[in-house]
Amino acid sequence: MTGQDTIRLMAVDDEPFMLRLLARMLEQMGHVGVVLCAGAQQALQHLDQAPQTPNLILLDLNMPDLDGIEFLRRLAERRYSGAVIVVSAEDEHILRSVDTLLQTHRITSLGHLHKPFRQDALSAALGRWRPATPREARVARANYSADEVRTAIVDGQLLNYYQPKVSVATGELVGVEALVRWRHPVAGIVFPDQFIGIAESHDLIGHLTRNVLSGALAQRQAWLDEGLALQVAVNVSMQNLESLGFPDLLAGQAAAASVSPEHIVVEVTESRLMDNLTVALDVLNRLRLKRFRLSIDDFGTGHSTFAKLADIPFDELKVDRGFVHGAATDPTLRAIYSASLALGRALKMEVVAEGVEDRADWEYLRETHCDLAQGYFIAKPMPAAGLPAWLVEWKDRVRRESLLGD
Ligand code: C2E
Ligand code: MG
Ligand code: MG
Repeated sequence: MTGQDTIRLMAVDDEPFMLRLLARMLEQMGHVGVVLCAGAQQALQHLDQAPQTPNLILLDLNMPDLDGIEFLRRLAERRYSGAVIVVSAEDEHILRSVDTLLQTHRITSLGHLHKPFRQDALSAALGRWRPATPREARVARANYSADEVRTAIVDGQLLNYYQPKVSVATGELVGVEALVRWRHPVAGIVFPDQFIGIAESHDLIGHLTRNVLSGALAQRQAWLDEGLALQVAVNVSMQNLESLGFPDLLAGQAAAASVSPEHIVVEVTESRLMDNLTVALDVLNRLRLKRFRLSIDDFGTGHSTFAKLADIPFDELKVDRGFVHGAATDPTLRAIYSASLALGRALKMEVVAEGVEDRADWEYLRETHCDLAQGYFIAKPMPAAGLPAWLVEWKDRVRRESLLGD
């Protein structure tokens, strides 16, 4: 038993009265062992040091030492896999946009409580708590060493999965994104968020990126032999872009595999890029001169300005999945999605919506004339061998479900 299936509560509020009130209500509801923190710094300390981390946090927003918004960002950096309930006196509009923020941080929100609130509202919110899914639970437990990750890279335990990108107007398969997986001898398939960070901080990311790219290039040729000409996208880290030899290395690999750079998309995450733009600009511009396609990934989660974006020769803009799924009905998401789409258009980039999860998302992209779509509604990432069969099924589905309209 890992304890993932029982609630472990933490309450964070700078008001001693509020903390006591919460503690009393929770106790009356039968919750014991609640960790009470008088501020966000204290909460972070607890998260970093306690052997068992909480999986449900009741969070105040307005706190003097570190506010709730900043705290959420730190939680996301720590890959917190539990849930959050925001407890605040701020107005409904702010609380709703914090819910959106949680979504972009990929943190589960169980809703918010508007101060003052009643015990039954607290009880209803707690009632929405569910144990983490096996994948989330794995994320929470993962703690691989640099040596394990090094072995994985050197011994060829990494493999690429591929997720299709399709044209919203025609349904046509345009390309695939390579997403690395670790076939772990004991744990099974391990997701990249559990080892990319380790590879980055231990100087292993150069090696990893080369492996992913050479796998993707070989795979592109194999598909081409079967009559499928696809664009392949790979994700690169900031460390890759900080290495001045990177453009030549990439060009060398592409030439060796006989793939011309126009068929290769280099995806860079927006938030990371904006943190260290100056160094990356040199490498990005040289990649572009060599005719690689450049894509700005997870757009909307960083803080690009129009001016900064216009300086970088991006060909593609990928709207972060946090702003795509549900955009049809949520005004805040829709505003961010539409602004991103308009920005991409204005700068003559191809716009990709990530995280298209259901029919409503798909219809909304059609309505707004987005260029490309990627997401579970179309296909989950899959091993290369699965692609031809998926494509047959997809073409059939496009017709059967009238995905292109009548
Ligand atoms: P990303 O580049 O933004 O990739 C998209 C992620 O969203 C993938 O997660 C994919 O499985 C997931 N996804 C796709 N469609 C949906 C959907 O409809 N709903 C939801 N909820 N999720 C969807 P994955 O494969 O776990 O990768 C996570 C991140 O790890 C990637 O985000 C990328 O930043 C990084 N990554 C993956 N492969 C590599 C790599 O080879 N090198 C580097 N440096 N980073 C990589
Ligand atoms: Mg990507
Ligand atoms: Mg993305």
